[in-house]
Amino acid sequence: MKSAAYLLTVSCVVLTISGCSTGSVRHSASQIDFQLVDYHVHLKGGLTLDEAIAIAEANGTRFGIAENCGLGFPVTDDLGLYAYIKKLEGKPVYKGMQAEGREWVTLFSPEAIAQFDYVFTDAMTWTDDNGNRMRLWIPEEVKFDDKQVFMDMLVERIITLMDTEPIDIYVNPTFLPAVISEEYDVLWTERRMLKVIDAAVRNDVAIEINARYRIPSERFIRLAKKAGVKFACGTNNGGRDDLGNLEYCREMILACNLTAADMFTPKPPHKKPILTKGLPGR
Ligand SMILES: [Zn+2]
Repeated sequence: MKSAAYLLTVSCVVLTISGCSTGSVRHSASQIDFQLVDYHVHLKGGLTLDEAIAIAEANGTRFGIAENCGLGFPVTDDLGLYAYIKKLEGKPVYKGMQAEGREWVTLFSPEAIAQFDYVFTDAMTWTDDNGNRMRLWIPEEVKFDDKQVFMDMLVERIITLMDTEPIDIYVNPTFLPAVISEEYDVLWTERRMLKVIDAAVRNDVAIEINARYRIPSERFIRLAKKAGVKFACGTNNGGRDDLGNLEYCREMILACNLTAADMFTPKPPHKKPILTKGLPGR
């Protein structure tokens, strides 16, 4: 028979692994007292809308189903946006628009964009100061000599997109390309994190807690919470088998004591960024 001390040790190890790293015992996941929403679900890899709705119901969550819209993506014009809206009409899901790359602001009309419950984008596609367009998840496209220069450029791009693009949520936040991802905690200095957080506050942009990549870090979330940033849970699934149940989001909500008041909710129609901020240059 195992001793009480052994069981206590095992419990502590389990709690530490799950992100509850402080001395006191934390609540269990069941103690999140508000409904979680996964705002970043894609109908990819064969996942159908009906299956997604069934999974959300089984998990006790709600989904925001998002289409990828932008240069080189499935939807590149208003017709595509309206077709997507029609597909989700009347279903118990939020309608999400994932705005891709930096060109998206030139491809769609404000009227069509305003049909969505929310718009989000990430900083994984951008052009560096030498004119090289990079998608950060594709190693062959990521080119830089100095990682500090790269980081400063990334931070500047994130701030610019928040300042200029009418988005509700910054997703896949703080994502780093594979070549430097292991140095995440060193390269994401507090100074860099605060610059991104300031821009989010200034523009009323929520920041995703991403379950797939397990980003941003707990350190980042704590700093952002202190600054008053709102958070949106999201998976960014690649198919039907990697949807999960927002495990990283749940860990962070408990570890950082996030409450319903810290969480993003879609804005009412007249407060949508596409209407209040508009598209750049229009
Ligand atoms: Zn996505």
